[in-house]
Amino acid sequence: MKKLIFLFLSAGIFLISFSRFQEKTWQDEQPVYNGKDLGVTYSAKVTHFKVWSPTASAVKLRLYAAGTGGEPLKTADLIKSADGTWEVSIRNNVKNLYYTFQTNIADIWQGECPDSYAKAVGVNGKRGMIVDMAETDPSDWANDKKPVLKNFNDIVLYELHIRDLSVNENSGIKNKGKFLGLTELGTKSKEGEPTGLDHIKQLGVTHIHLLPSFDFSSVDETKNNGKYNWGYDPLNYNVPEGSYATDPYDGRVRIREFKQMVKTLHSNGLRVILDVVYNHTSGIKDANFTQFAPGYFYRHNADGSYSNATACGNETASEKAMMRKFMTESVVYWAKEYHLDGFRFDLMGVHDIETMNQISDTLHKLDPTIFIYGEAWDAGASPLPAAQRALKKNMQQLNQVAAFSDDIRDAIRGARVKVKGFVSGETNATETLKFGITGSVQHPQVNYNLSRSKAPWAREPYQTISYASCHDDNCLYDRLKLANPEADEDQLIEMDKLANAIVFTSQGIPFIQAGEEFLRTKQMVSNSYNKPDSINQLEWSRKAKYKTVYNYYKDFIALRKHHPAFRMPSAVMIQKHLEFLDAKDPALVAYQLKDNANKDKWKNILVVMNGSLSAKDFQLPQGQWTLVADGQRVNEGGINKQISGSKTLAPTAIYIFHQ
Ligand code: CA
Repeated sequence: MKKLIFLFLSAGIFLISFSRFQEKTWQDEQPVYNGKDLGVTYSAKVTHFKVWSPTASAVKLRLYAAGTGGEPLKTADLIKSADGTWEVSIRNNVKNLYYTFQTNIADIWQGECPDSYAKAVGVNGKRGMIVDMAETDPSDWANDKKPVLKNFNDIVLYELHIRDLSVNENSGIKNKGKFLGLTELGTKSKEGEPTGLDHIKQLGVTHIHLLPSFDFSSVDETKNNGKYNWGYDPLNYNVPEGSYATDPYDGRVRIREFKQMVKTLHSNGLRVILDVVYNHTSGIKDANFTQFAPGYFYRHNADGSYSNATACGNETASEKAMMRKFMTESVVYWAKEYHLDGFRFDLMGVHDIETMNQISDTLHKLDPTIFIYGEAWDAGASPLPAAQRALKKNMQQLNQVAAFSDDIRDAIRGARVKVKGFVSGETNATETLKFGITGSVQHPQVNYNLSRSKAPWAREPYQTISYASCHDDNCLYDRLKLANPEADEDQLIEMDKLANAIVFTSQGIPFIQAGEEFLRTKQMVSNSYNKPDSINQLEWSRKAKYKTVYNYYKDFIALRKHHPAFRMPSAVMIQKHLEFLDAKDPALVAYQLKDNANKDKWKNILVVMNGSLSAKDFQLPQGQWTLVADGQRVNEGGINKQISGSKTLAPTAIYIFHQ
């Protein structure tokens, strides 16, 4: 996520209202609570409420019948306890009641709000809800089984927004814009093409990466008015978003439907990753963090003002003990309660390395197949030194955490809007493309003086996410159109296919944005975070219209899955088996995957890419070769056999041979 200018509250306004105590509260060392029982612990006999609010002089609990409106059914004072905590136990059965806390800090009663650890909330996340979590489990949840994953390198990622998938009138999906939309099988467009879940299964990706689906603030859940947002404005981190549920008022429904979605995806062979946005909150003043410990959870500039490395008005302080604890416990909660298979960290470069490693170690103890990756960059200056943060240049210090490769992305499509990349005939990105093809690991044939990153940043290839576009910026097709105004549609289609054929054959982990497989367009809108469905929706009629593009993507994913040479698990193996060839032309990149790389049944695989808009001749290495893929098709049985000598390459095309 970037370029997201929410600015719900300027730091200036905040400083006026909180200046009386802000100085003291965030600078002072606060006591650290190490217990695992923060939040609401429900049982039929007694329910325990515990919050961390070290500078409060009083904390009140109120219980309500509903998530909004009405007078409290009961009010209780919390008792000060160890290490900055406050707690109270209620002995009646309070199941399905809603609650708020209210703290008194520096003689000011803060607003009523749920705690950051809330597991369930009412409409718009204003009140927490006391839920017996076992009652939210879909049938047979205990037997939910994750699809098998042997190596991270076997992953193929599909980035999806819940609403985009189903909201189009031609989706054939009943639960439009809802979690349940992703559980419907047998859905078809009016052209008769499978849509939704069937479509994703047919495409062959392994993991669905959901854009923020925790409770965010920008869509009013009381109005089913089609208001759209990506959701990078976190409200309640441990709760699913209400506008994606069939009933946003009853806090149990969104939980049950989210779990139902995960279970259905698992049983259909797909793993599920959640985009998590701990780097900032939607505003400061009303954030739960602020109500309990003003200033503590955020970073500050030297003058006391809130720093803003996220470009969203604030940045959280992962290095503070209670923020680190919260982030770790939050992802563990999602992994355990919702059976999630991975996390994508928004602006991971804002978080400190130690926190990311603690999260990785903790999650991998729970399940070694959980996949963690993020944007290893920031969107502004941070007071936490760059050397301590999970930035791309520090990736070698991160354990089992991957990062998006803007290197391969920009080499493929161009570094800026209206700038050409390799697939549009640009020849100055070749070394950066080679950097990306090797999965950003050390390789003796990459000239790091000429590549965009001046040193390999991945220790192992799974640490690299290869992609050509994501939700940020223009869709791939739109971006290619902007960079190539002179190109006709046929040429743009060849560029698009070549772009993702490179992604699917490179050694990192391939990632596509949903709908790219049928030339998704957002009508040139580059930052669609709050644009209507007409811009963001997947237009299912395009699947029939661009069926050849769709088949090409599908066949390349299958080729990758059938051939382990394209997904070598270690840097050492890549160094040994991946050899670049001298293509004798700056618009060509060619390499071999030699000697049954990663036990591939093909002895030698030759990949040749022509980024130029003209046909080119290429001299094949010694011997007879079988052509299995070109710019138009994939045929693993062989398009042409017994090829040798010089081969003419069509413009804007990839060729794959083997022997
Ligand atoms: Ca919400």
